[in-house]
Amino acid sequence: MFDFRDSKVVVTGGSRGIGEAVVAAFAKAGARVAAVARTQERLDELVARTEGEVMAYACDVSDEAAVAETFGKINEDLGGVDVLVNNAGITRDTLVMSMKAEAWDDVIATNLRSVFLCSKAVLRPMLRQRNGRIINVTSIIGLTGNAGQGNYAASKAGIIGFTKSLAREVASRSITVNAIAPGMIDTDMTRELGEDAKTAILAQIPMGRLGSGEDIAGTALWLASGSAAYVTGETIRVDGGMAT
Ligand code: NAP
Repeated sequence: MFDFRDSKVVVTGGSRGIGEAVVAAFAKAGARVAAVARTQERLDELVARTEGEVMAYACDVSDEAAVAETFGKINEDLGGVDVLVNNAGITRDTLVMSMKAEAWDDVIATNLRSVFLCSKAVLRPMLRQRNGRIINVTSIIGLTGNAGQGNYAASKAGIIGFTKSLAREVASRSITVNAIAPGMIDTDMTRELGEDAKTAILAQIPMGRLGSGEDIAGTALWLASGSAAYVTGETIRVDGGMAT
């Protein structure tokens, strides 16, 4: 449906889950795709099983020096970056009362600091080419909050504020910055939940099913396409109606 031949795309957290579906969808649409994640082995497996032009970069996206070095390499290898999907994320769930500062810092660094660092790393070339798309993966938890996820909700709400601010900064150069807020998606992250928790969550989803990585990838492709050229600063829920 979408044609991304000649497009260079970077996806953080691209080795599995939602990120993998986004990598596969862009690669299938003809893009050259750089997948970024910490674990080299998982990246190698991704490259082996994915059709199209996919390159792997091992990098902790919360580490400023590592991001600068990796994105420098990606820029050289791909010959620029047209689309950045900031998708890497983790959870360290517990009630605020018992949350260690380390669990707070880890989640904010991986989920929010990374979005700032990776966006900054692609801005200069995007500003120069007067074109670009930044797509940040937040969560409906950033809109609604959730008991046991104070750190995660803060990081995801932070992404929404950052998205709106950066969108305003770069709009005049035809760079759009948007966020996707997934609901409950079937990935490693949600597979950790117990059966009781899953049943309770399913009851809250009007569509009656968990989402798939492909459900999120479809929205990412649209936001990256010419059809969404006038959409910026927006957060789109892709949640089967869960946070309606
Ligand atoms: P996942 O299956 O756990 O995959 C997470 C990905 O991020 C992996 O590729 C992981 O690879 C990478 N990653 C984690 N920490 C990283 C770091 N410091 N540096 C670089 N890469 C890192 O997660 P997912 O469910 O697909 O979630 C993807 C995004 O969607 C996250 O931002 C999540 O918050 C958001 N989201 C998910 C859901 C859901 O229901 N699943 C709902 C709403 C929002 P390594 O571990 O090898 O680094």
